Amino acid sequence: MRILAVASEAFPYVKTGGLADVVGALPLALTELGHDVVTLIPGYPQVLATLGPAEVVDRYGELYGGPARILQKHRAWGEAGWMVVDAPHLFDRPGHPYRQASGAPWDDEAFRFAALAVVAREIGLGRLAAFQPDVVHAHDWQTGLVPAYLALDGRMGPATVMTVHNLAFQGQFTPDWLGALGLPASSFTVAGVEYYGGIGFLKAGLAYADKLTTVSPTYARDIQQDLWGMGLQGLLAARAADLAGIVNGIDTVHWNPADDPFVRPGYDADRLALRGQHKQALQAALGLEVRGDVPLFVVISRLAWQKGMDVLLAAVPALVEAGGQLAVLGSGEADLEGGFEAAGTHHRGRVAVRLGYDEPLAHRLHAGGDAVLVPSRFEPCGLTQLYGLRYGCVPVVAATGGLIDTVVDADEAANGTGFLVEAGRTDRLIDGMRRAIAVWRDPPRWQALQRRGMMQDLGWRRPAEAYLRVFEAALAKR
Ligand code: ADP
Repeated sequence: MRILAVASEAFPYVKTGGLADVVGALPLALTELGHDVVTLIPGYPQVLATLGPAEVVDRYGELYGGPARILQKHRAWGEAGWMVVDAPHLFDRPGHPYRQASGAPWDDEAFRFAALAVVAREIGLGRLAAFQPDVVHAHDWQTGLVPAYLALDGRMGPATVMTVHNLAFQGQFTPDWLGALGLPASSFTVAGVEYYGGIGFLKAGLAYADKLTTVSPTYARDIQQDLWGMGLQGLLAARAADLAGIVNGIDTVHWNPADDPFVRPGYDADRLALRGQHKQALQAALGLEVRGDVPLFVVISRLAWQKGMDVLLAAVPALVEAGGQLAVLGSGEADLEGGFEAAGTHHRGRVAVRLGYDEPLAHRLHAGGDAVLVPSRFEPCGLTQLYGLRYGCVPVVAATGGLIDTVVDADEAANGTGFLVEAGRTDRLIDGMRRAIAVWRDPPRWQALQRRGMMQDLGWRRPAEAYLRVFEAALAKR
């Protein structure tokens, strides 16, 4: 099968969150299963700087305000393919891929992602003789117009699949954009791109794609309900027969404690004692008391309401009181950043906070931490608990969405891999951290927990097979 994936970010070229990890890793697994995948992403400066040798395979004289070139990365046999929309007037901007320095989105955000979608439509409709996809796979709101443009085009096109990585981000624009985005007036209906009086990019994708997926079975159910449907629950419930939940895999090569360039010496489930030196190094580097006799909890997260970071902040005094240490790596909402910094100052030696984005430190936190906290209010899938499982860093997570599908509570089941607590409640989180500490003080039981987590099959093969079944079902609808 030939698959064109389209996304606004992809590891290793540009990443702001879990979306990039998935978009980077799924094509590799599909390629290993014998399929031909090309991923189309915007040509941000960091993408062009790291792409490596590429050739120009197409040109647009005018693409939403300027010329564009379509670059294709040179591809060795057995590799997944990459194409990049090099449109400097839209994407050659420094800093964050989605936001201005002020934090506000770009005024022409609609054009930037419409341009990506137009290029995807054209490739989908056969513009490049060398790569004519059977299926186009769109990820998140930035690519919601891809299924819409293809469905609204008169020509016979590929099957389309829309994947939701987070329903909270929807891409809403005022109705006056309709004509400029090349959308016909007839598409401005409840069954089309119209969304609460405006234009909804994600809504459009969910309305027009042949099949829909999201990143866990529990989140697939959650988003059909009022609580987490974010306005789209009606549409999603109506399309329930077309909606599948597929838990993300992780890149087990890049996230491998036995062979991780950021974690030397490597370790595995049979050499867990080596984790002790990673913990010491981490404590020293972060200014925590270097002690083996206190449990170290770690967090790698956007500092956001969704992630329950306010719930965690309120639990910090109790965690310290219970004898724990906390290391936080993240960035996000200003009041949360300030709150965690203040907690770090107040509990010096017990709480360490690093604001910013730091990929190597994320790896070291999983290798040296005893437990990783994921107290999200809602969580489509979550990746840090999966990295935690892989690294023997036991997850303590909120019982919501994909966290329910990936962590088994050690106090509830013999095959436990972590601890689940009710979402959104500080008292329950404190209780969960105390339960974790109690097991941590019983090393044989804790190590059994770590090993069970490390033995989980977290790779992309099974999820990739599930995506293929969805692609086939989408093709069958044609
Ligand atoms: P999100 O909702 O943010 O996508 P996920 O858990 O699905 O949450 O994915 C987050 C990804 O981003 C993980 O790979 C995590 O390791 C990474 N990450 C988040 N914050 C940071 C940070 N401050 N530094 C390094 N990596 C981070």
